[in-house]
Amino acid sequence: MKFSITSRGDHKSESIKAIIRQYLEDFDLEYNEQEPDIAISVGGDGTFLEAFHSYSDRLDKTAFIGVHTGHLGFYADWVPEEIEKLVIDIAKNPIQVVEYPLLSMKIHSTDDSKSERHLALNECSIKKVEGSVVLDVSIKGEHFERFRGDGLCMSTPSGSTAYNKALGGAIIHPSLESVQITEMSSINNRVYRTIGSSLILPKHHVCEFKPVEDNQSFLITIDHITKNVMNIKSIECQVAEEKIRFARFRSFPFWKRVRDSFVSDE
Ligand code: NAP
Ligand code: MN
Repeated sequence: MKFSITSRGDHKSESIKAIIRQYLEDFDLEYNEQEPDIAISVGGDGTFLEAFHSYSDRLDKTAFIGVHTGHLGFYADWVPEEIEKLVIDIAKNPIQVVEYPLLSMKIHSTDDSKSERHLALNECSIKKVEGSVVLDVSIKGEHFERFRGDGLCMSTPSGSTAYNKALGGAIIHPSLESVQITEMSSINNRVYRTIGSSLILPKHHVCEFKPVEDNQSFLITIDHITKNVMNIKSIECQVAEEKIRFARFRSFPFWKRVRDSFVSDE
C-alpha cells in the first residue's frame, strides 16, 4: 500500500509527519506522493483541504485521514497521541471507508469554448471585490430570484460547519446528499427581494447563477482557493457524482464532532 503525508509545515506538524512516515515505512508501506492509496494530512482542517485538492482527480483510489496538531478539526480529527494506533490500523488491510458528498461547480465563460469544473469539499462562494454581486438565480431551470448583496455560499454537508455556519446557515448531516445555498448580506427593501433563508437542494437539483451586468469580475472561492474570474456567462452548482472517502478506524459521530467543536468537549 502507498501513502502520502501533507503537513501544515509548522515544527510540530513536520515532526509528526516524520514519525508517521518512519512507522509506516517500518511496516513496509511505500511513501508515494503521486499515487497514494491513503493521503494523511497533519495540521488542521485547512491542511486537509489542501490534501483533498492534491488528489481530487483520483478520489476513487485515494482515501483520506486527518491528524490535528492544533484544535480538533472536522476532517482532522485524530490527535498526535493516537498515531501509533493509527499506523497499526493503516498497516492492517483492508481499509474501511466512509463516504461524504462533494459539491461540483461549473463555470461557463462568455467565450463559449471555455468552461471549467471544480470540486469542493467545504464550499464554493461567489463574491466581488467592489460593489454588490447581482445574479439571476435559477433552480432546476426555473428562475427563482434576482440576488443583490455581498455574495452567495454553496456548501456541502461537511462544509456546513465552516463558512456556511458563520453566515447563519444550518448544519447538515453528511448522510444527506445535498447542497446548501446561503446568502451573504442580501439587500432587501421595497425594490429588491430575496428569499433570505438558506435553501437546501437535494441531489440532481442544479442551481444556476447568471451575472446580470456585463464585464464584471467575480471572486470565486473553492474551499481555501480564491480566483478572480472575468467573462462569466453562468455558474452551475450541484451535488457532485464523486465522493470523498475517509479511512475509518474508529467511530466519531458527526454530531459529537459538532458538539466537541462548538459547544463543549466534556
Ligand atoms: P482558515 O481561515 O484557517 O479557516 C477558517 C476556519 O475554518 C479554521 O478554523 C478552519 O480550521 C475551519 N474549518 C475549515 N473547514 C471546516 C469545516 N468543514 N468545519 C468547521 N470548521 C472548518 O482557512 P483554511 O484553513 O484554509 O480553510 C478554508 C475554509 O475557511 C473555507 O473552506 C471556509 O469554509 C472557511 N472560511 C470561513 C470563514 C468564516 O468562518 N467567516 C470565512 C472564510 C472562509 P483549521 O484551523 O483547523 O484550519
Ligand atoms: Mn486553517
